[in-house]
Amino acid sequence: MANRKYIVGNWKMNGLRAQLSDIADIAAIAANHEGADVGICPPATLISAAVQANPGFAIGAQDCHFAENGAHTGCLSAAMLREAGATYSIVGHSERRADQQESDAEVKAKAEAAHAAGMDAIICVGETEEERDAGQAIEIVTVQLARSFPADASADWLTIAYEPVWAIGTGRVPETSDVAEMHAAIRDKLEELMGQGSDSVRILYGGSMNGGNASELLAVPNVDGGLVGGASLTAAKFGPIIEAAA
Ligand code: PGA
Repeated sequence: MANRKYIVGNWKMNGLRAQLSDIADIAAIAANHEGADVGICPPATLISAAVQANPGFAIGAQDCHFAENGAHTGCLSAAMLREAGATYSIVGHSERRADQQESDAEVKAKAEAAHAAGMDAIICVGETEEERDAGQAIEIVTVQLARSFPADASADWLTIAYEPVWAIGTGRVPETSDVAEMHAAIRDKLEELMGQGSDSVRILYGGSMNGGNASELLAVPNVDGGLVGGASLTAAKFGPIIEAAA
């Protein structure tokens, strides 16, 4: 049986209080499309206000630290984000793996920290353009997944997002046959890593998903939803993706 679709907006470093109205508009669309799960990950500064203004709408974090507390200036723990109202956190986004040199081991620890604090986790994996051109995409992504994979993983709290680095923010999207091949490989790897229950772990596609291509991408086998950057910033852009999923 197909998994229920899950559409998550990743606002990255975008959004001041003035944009809370966009979250409210998106939450209203989500409430009218109960066929899919929908959420937004605003910058951490907006989590608390977004949660208070939109009861019942799933607000998440874009990252959390792996440590419980301590001398990590500028960082936020999973418990802090949970207390602010986030019910899940993205971990291991390729922008953090590149900009903050996050390792697979750190990503694994972050997913575990999110779960320990009572949040769900979305672990991101994806290959660079050079890796794809070299024919290594599947190997790179499945190894990344295995090394980033948390202990005690369960579909109850874990989601995977496949995001080819070269497709993020570029307007370029892989062929649907390549998406199908990668998502099937991730599905097989999940079975190897966790056995029973692996079919229920949702695998999102991310990278230049928009209202024009969402239906086609969401129809690919093993694509259980989308992680959406640029096209999640307004209801006008995000609404059609929610509609395609619901
Ligand atoms: P994009 O970003 O939709 O703007 O390509 C996706 C992501 O980085 O999660």
